[in-house]
Amino acid sequence: MKYASEFRDPSLARGLLAAIVDQADKIGATKAKPVHIMEICGGHTHSIFRYGLDKLIHPGVEFIHGPGCPVCVLPMARVDEAVQLAERPEVIFTTFGDAMRVPGHRKSLLQAKAAGADVRMVYSPLDALELARRNPGREVVFFGLGFETTTPSTALSIQQAAREELTNFSVFCNHITVPEPIKALLDDPFMVLDGFIGPGHVSMVIGVHPYDFIARDYGKPIVVAGFEPTDLLQSVLMVLTQIAEGRAVVENQYARVVPEHGNPVSLAAVEDVYERRPSFEWRGLGEIDASGLRIRARYRSFDAEEKFGIGYGAGPRDVPEVEGCACGAVMTGRIKPTACPQFGRGCTPEMPLGALMVSSEGACAAYWQYGGARGVAAE
Ligand code: SF4
Repeated sequence: MKYASEFRDPSLARGLLAAIVDQADKIGATKAKPVHIMEICGGHTHSIFRYGLDKLIHPGVEFIHGPGCPVCVLPMARVDEAVQLAERPEVIFTTFGDAMRVPGHRKSLLQAKAAGADVRMVYSPLDALELARRNPGREVVFFGLGFETTTPSTALSIQQAAREELTNFSVFCNHITVPEPIKALLDDPFMVLDGFIGPGHVSMVIGVHPYDFIARDYGKPIVVAGFEPTDLLQSVLMVLTQIAEGRAVVENQYARVVPEHGNPVSLAAVEDVYERRPSFEWRGLGEIDASGLRIRARYRSFDAEEKFGIGYGAGPRDVPEVEGCACGAVMTGRIKPTACPQFGRGCTPEMPLGALMVSSEGACAAYWQYGGARGVAAE
């Protein structure tokens, strides 16, 4: 496969693995005293397991799976509100497919659909816009989800709806940002993190400088990485090299895709449409300051929270997690998925209890699919 096979070349991978062994040995990393490298993005978690990098890598390098899967960090209260919106008779509720099975307290969107709610899977917010044009007598709500990668497409659809003066289109906005949860993790005295693999797709939009604080204020190296196996191996090597040389800077391994200053057109659309919420709740991590976006007042008529009187504006909420779910502990690296008592028993991809088992980018789903973990669960 042209443009992909070059990045899956076994001889290149072997060379990178040998260089990783050299650097890991140089800094004295061992299985008992490993270097902890967090891959922030769920796409990287998926690649690590898909290509078996966790098994190939030096035993002194431990991957900590970060909170970069937007479906996994969506709190129950927001799923409940999505279901509440979907159950309104006038609403066509539109969503990306992987949000359909995220469990809420009462039910998931898929269960709401099975019970008669008009929930439709779309591939883009523009599909939701088209539904609004074709159904002027219904209210079309788009479930705006995701990190900086997807915020621009939702913003552009709101701008388009405003240009067309559509009155039956709105967005239930749950867009979140990457730098703030990283800061929260670095401020957690329990966390032991020696370096980061930075997200590739998010950085394509925001560039590399929003991560400067990680190196400057916390003294940790971060390397923005691609998603192929040699991308990830090279990025681990770059992190280890920084540690060995006593440096901490932001480096860009994924320069073939990620511009240093991001995408100005996307950033302008995001700035026009959204503003920061004072804080936003994350499943398993709690409230994190300034980590969520809401729709600016000038686009208020496209904000489903305003239109239907739900969400933060409706008052404070208590957000208990599912009993027995250890997603928070997995997401902060305190335990591996297989240590969760529900793993493979009360929680499988077919019947997920926690969100980390729902999305293919979730750490538990990756362990289940690629980690030989079914056997572990069956023991
Ligand atoms: S196995 Fe299921 S319940 Fe346990 S941490 Fe993973 S997703 Fe959460």
